[in-house]
Amino acid sequence: VIRRIAIVGGTHGNELTGVALVRDLEARPRITDGLEVRTLIGNPGAVEQCRRFVDRDLNRAFRPSELANPTLSDHESRRAREVAAELRPDGEPAVDFIVDLHTTTSNMGVSLLLASSHPLELQLCAAIMARVPSRVLLLGGLWGSELPYLKTLAPHSLAIEVGPIPQGVLRHDILEQTRAAVEATLAHFSRLAVTGTPPADSTTLAAFEAIENVAYPLDAAGRPLVVHRDLQDRDWQPLEADQPLFVAADGTEQKCLPEWVGLCPVFINEAAYYPDTAFVLTRQVELPIGSSD
Ligand SMILES: [Zn+2]
Repeated sequence: VIRRIAIVGGTHGNELTGVALVRDLEARPRITDGLEVRTLIGNPGAVEQCRRFVDRDLNRAFRPSELANPTLSDHESRRAREVAAELRPDGEPAVDFIVDLHTTTSNMGVSLLLASSHPLELQLCAAIMARVPSRVLLLGGLWGSELPYLKTLAPHSLAIEVGPIPQGVLRHDILEQTRAAVEATLAHFSRLAVTGTPPADSTTLAAFEAIENVAYPLDAAGRPLVVHRDLQDRDWQPLEADQPLFVAADGTEQKCLPEWVGLCPVFINEAAYYPDTAFVLTRQVELPIGSSD
């Protein structure tokens, strides 16, 4: 049963939506039947500077092997050990579930990012999707056995990533969408904790499974090509044969590879991933939700 929930904002210091929601929850604590809800600013040092991170990405600093290495002394390695000491003291989870709040500059709407496809997490996503228009993205396949995310400090987790929104900006609509997804999460677990009965929303869940990070192609001078207007903002939409994906300064287009047709790109032109990853390729999957008993 999920009773202890941590809501984390500001894991990336220039994603202000989560910071604002966490500060709002701290100013006006809410009582949710059956749940203990705590809040945390992930990377206060980066939030203060409105930067994604100070030395390196905090949300890539939670591999167990790195947390166990006290010689790592950069800002985020030290902060990762502090966060781990708070949320998993002595290696024992102090919370059952982490909700980590993020934003994206890509046109992704409300995205529910899962590190695993445990029935408990799939049930939650189904419950959120019933109340808030959203999509599920499974990220586990992009990494080896050691996931680097903050949310992996708890046995179960969800990252809520909402866009499009520039870095360092607050938008009313994005705030409201994120808040609605957080409220749906708390309502779901509260209902579970109080009644003990999982919802019978549906038996399968439509999701997108991340399979590959696609790098920007480079021009002869080694500069990244630009994402083509026919790809820009088309997150989640299946790629088509001969669809132009990139354009060079001289107008030369680079088209979709045959093996990518039907796959769905996300994080298209995400500012935080420039100039490495142009988009993440996903495939659509239908997941049996199953029972968490
Ligand atoms: Zn983020």
